Order: sequence, then C-alpha cells, then structure tokens
Amino acid sequence: METRIGHGYDLHRLEPTGDNGTSLMVGGVEVRCGLQSIAHSDGDAVMHAVTDALLSAIGEPDIGSLFPDTEPENENRDSGEFLLEAMDRVNAGGWAICNVDITVLCDQPKMNSIREQVCENIRRYIVAPVNIKGKTHEGTDSSGAIEVHVVALLQKGKTHE
Ligand code: MG
Repeated sequence: METRIGHGYDLHRLEPTGDNGTSLMVGGVEVRCGLQSIAHSDGDAVMHAVTDALLSAIGEPDIGSLFPDTEPENENRDSGEFLLEAMDRVNAGGWAICNVDITVLCDQPKMNSIREQVCENIRRYIVAPVNIKGKTHEGTDSSGAIEVHVVALLQKGKTHE
C-alpha cells in the first residue's frame, strides 16, 4: 500500500462587482455576494487549491503548468475542468482518494451559509469524503482576498497480501 499526501494553496483578490452581475465561484458554487474574483479563469480558488493538492500528491505538474494563465483558451474557463483533468490523472495512476480537507479564509461570503453545497459539489468530482472549514482574515491586510489551503490523502495498492 502506497500513501501520498498533497498540499494545495491558492489566493485571489476579491473586488466589488458593481452592477455587472458577476458571481463569485466557490468550489463550483455560484455565490452572489457583491464580490468577484480577479483572475484569468473563473477565479475559483477552492477548485484551484483542490486541483493542486491532488496533482501534487501524485507528483504531476501543478495547475499553473497544465493550464497557463497566458493561454486564451483558459480565459474565464470553468475551473471544474481543471479538477476533472486532475481526476483523470489520479485515476490513470490507480490512486484512490482517502479524503480532502479544505480551509477557506475570507471575510465574505460566510462559509457557514454555503459549506454543504460546496462539499456536495466537490464530492461529485472526487467521490471521496470532503470537509470544509471557514475562517476570516481577522481584519489583516489580506481582507480583500479569498485564500484556500487544501490537504489531500491518496492511496494505491493492496492493504495486505
Ligand atoms: Mg487560482
């Protein structure tokens, strides 16, 4: 039995949407909280950090190498597609995901109000236990951002002969 751990991290600046109606993507869930994520893709920091944790655990190139923000095809791209690519590589390597643990730091939106929806959506992609906890930036300089840390545990092989 081989066991690997992977860590993923991402941060995006949040800005008021004004009246352009843009939503904030959090783990594939569209949240209308008057804020938008500044990014080349759809700016879903939760999806990006989960994707990187899985890729990192199995020793594959990171999300920025696979999907450069200089490529026009990645502009406004659904970040679920990045996670699907990571899952293809997880499955191709014969890995099983034990669990994924996510910590989201942002002042808005409140994770309490969307936690179940986000967990359920990410479980659809990775078919493994997902936990999310939310924290705030406690009024520090990072307050205008969403910051995400993820650890993922993966295994492959037989449990015993
Ligand atoms: Mg990102």
